[in-house]
Amino acid sequence: MLMFEMPNDKNLPHAPMLGDHLAMDLLNTQARSGDKVVEYWNSDADVLRWLRQSGISPAVEQSTLTDGELLSQAKTLRTLAHQLITGFKQEKLQEISELNTYLHSYVSAPHLAPDSDGRLVITRLSCSDTAASMLGQVAEAVAQLLVEGDATLVKQCEHPDCILWFYDRTKAHKRRWCSMATCGNRYKAAQFRKRNSD
Ligand SMILES: [Zn+2]
Repeated sequence: MLMFEMPNDKNLPHAPMLGDHLAMDLLNTQARSGDKVVEYWNSDADVLRWLRQSGISPAVEQSTLTDGELLSQAKTLRTLAHQLITGFKQEKLQEISELNTYLHSYVSAPHLAPDSDGRLVITRLSCSDTAASMLGQVAEAVAQLLVEGDATLVKQCEHPDCILWFYDRTKAHKRRWCSMATCGNRYKAAQFRKRNSD
C-alpha cells in the first residue's frame, strides 16, 4: 500500500521546475548530465513528491495502489507526452487516443483555494486514488498545450549538453536557455574560452 507521508527528502535531487508549463516540467523529470541520463523518477514517492512540487495534491489520504504503479503510469504518460509534444512542434497529425485514456480516468472536483499571492483560484482535485486519476491534471496540461499552446514557443534548451524543455513566455520570445544561471553561463564561458584560444 502506498502512503502519502513524505520522507525527509531534503537531500534528494529535485527535478528542475523551470519549464513554465506543467507539460514541460513533466518532460524535465529526465535530464542529462554529460553522456548520462538523469532520472528524477525512481519510485512512487519521487512521483508524489513531484506532483506536490507542481501544486497537485491527491484528495485521498491513502491509496490502494500497488507498489510501482504510480511510477510506471507516470513514466508511460511522460513517454507519451514526449511523443505528442515533439509531434506538435513539428506540426504532425497526432495519435491522441492514449492521452484520452488518461483524461477519461481523471475523476476530479473543482477546488477553490488561495494561490501563493493570496488570490482565490479554482483548481481541480483528483477524487480517485487510481494512478491515472492522480496524474490526470498532468495529462490535462499536455492536452491543453496541444490545444492552446503555440508550437513555436515550445523550446528545448539550446545548450548542446542539455535536454530540458520550456514554454517561452518571455515578452520577446527569445528565451534560449533552461536557465541563464546554468546553461546560459556555461555556453558563454565556452564561447569565451574558444575566442581566447584562437
Ligand atoms: Zn539547459
